[in-house]
Amino acid sequence: MAKTETFFINIGIGVCMVLGGFFLFSKSSANETKTQCSSKTEVLKKKFGFTQSDHHFETYSLGINQNLGDLLIWQGVQWDSILKLDKISSDIFSIRKFRAKKPFTLVRKDECSKPHCIVYEPNKFTFIKYYLDDKVEIEAVQRDYEVKIESASGIIESSLWLAMNKAGLDGSIIDKMEDAMASNVDFYHTQKGDMFKLIFERKYIEGKPVDYGEVISGAFKNDSGEHFAVFYENEKYAGFYDLEGHPTKSTFLRAPLKYSRISSSFNRRRFHPIKKRTIPHLGTDYAAPTGTPIFSVADGVVVRAGYSKNNGKYVKIKHDDVYQTQYLHMHRFAKGIKKGTRVTQGQVIGQVGQTGLATGPHVCFRFWKHGRQVNHRRENFPPADPLPEEELEAFFIQRDSLLNDLNKIHYPIEISSALVASQTNT
Ligand SMILES: [Zn+2]
Repeated sequence: MAKTETFFINIGIGVCMVLGGFFLFSKSSANETKTQCSSKTEVLKKKFGFTQSDHHFETYSLGINQNLGDLLIWQGVQWDSILKLDKISSDIFSIRKFRAKKPFTLVRKDECSKPHCIVYEPNKFTFIKYYLDDKVEIEAVQRDYEVKIESASGIIESSLWLAMNKAGLDGSIIDKMEDAMASNVDFYHTQKGDMFKLIFERKYIEGKPVDYGEVISGAFKNDSGEHFAVFYENEKYAGFYDLEGHPTKSTFLRAPLKYSRISSSFNRRRFHPIKKRTIPHLGTDYAAPTGTPIFSVADGVVVRAGYSKNNGKYVKIKHDDVYQTQYLHMHRFAKGIKKGTRVTQGQVIGQVGQTGLATGPHVCFRFWKHGRQVNHRRENFPPADPLPEEELEAFFIQRDSLLNDLNKIHYPIEISSALVASQTNT
């Protein structure tokens, strides 16, 4: 079992050939090159726009207290030119902003001549050319990048982060995935065995991945079922939707803090660790270090920010006529949080603590529905307003195309059991 769980697939670049429909969603950018028509030899011959055969390139970097002027003087550049460069570069990218130890390139017309140009790369997508000839000039160049549509799938063994790494992704895509599916999946409290599939954009410069673009579609399978999100865009709407056309941006976040551990679940028959008898636990405890920010799970108005012997410092928020939430044992309230304060979803309202009856730092999160406390983790939150009727036909067409692409990717377990099946058949 352990072995099959580590199995993952990264279909990768090949997918962009198969899934033609995805190009609908590729971001348009003036710098983007979808197809490189020029031959490879021509690409190789140039560096920063200079032909390699008649230019000489050398990499330098500044020491901690070194400045570029000193280095250029030593390279034979006139003091006059350096002053000019300093002056005009401040409008584009000041030569004073060169970071110590960050490499830059001096370009010469031949090995022994003084530098013709300095090239500095403030980020992966930009390089700046400072020409040092009779006329001092500066040019900022946006690099061409290529957007490829890729896919990945994985299974969680210990954390979503590690599962992403195994699938060849870095954790920064989790936030994008969360944006796409937050109403259905609590990405901060995933379980072993949960699986995901993802189709997304990745940006490449000269064949090297440099960044992610947008998530296009995703699926997440856990003990409550399989959840989908597809990106839909037209002149009026842009966002992630579930298969019925409800926005997947959640009306309620699944948890009031990130990166925490559920230390005690909602349980009507719990044995209380301090009072030593069965007392229902009508909330969910999230253990996290003192000071961890707690946020409101939805828009609302603070109806109480106070103290009681059991709850310690706590906040209660009214979201609408049906739902209220409560956050107990806080270390302190966030600035401005008091009765009557309007809060938005994700706004920090306080910090994790252990005030009141608590054995360690945690937030006891309580969810009220029609005046009764319920287990929010079993609650199906009211979906946000769906796409209007007249929009649905167009939505379904795009949805089906995306779903079709998503179905071509397999969850790790499906693959491994298919392998086992084929082996036992022979
Ligand atoms: Zn509790």
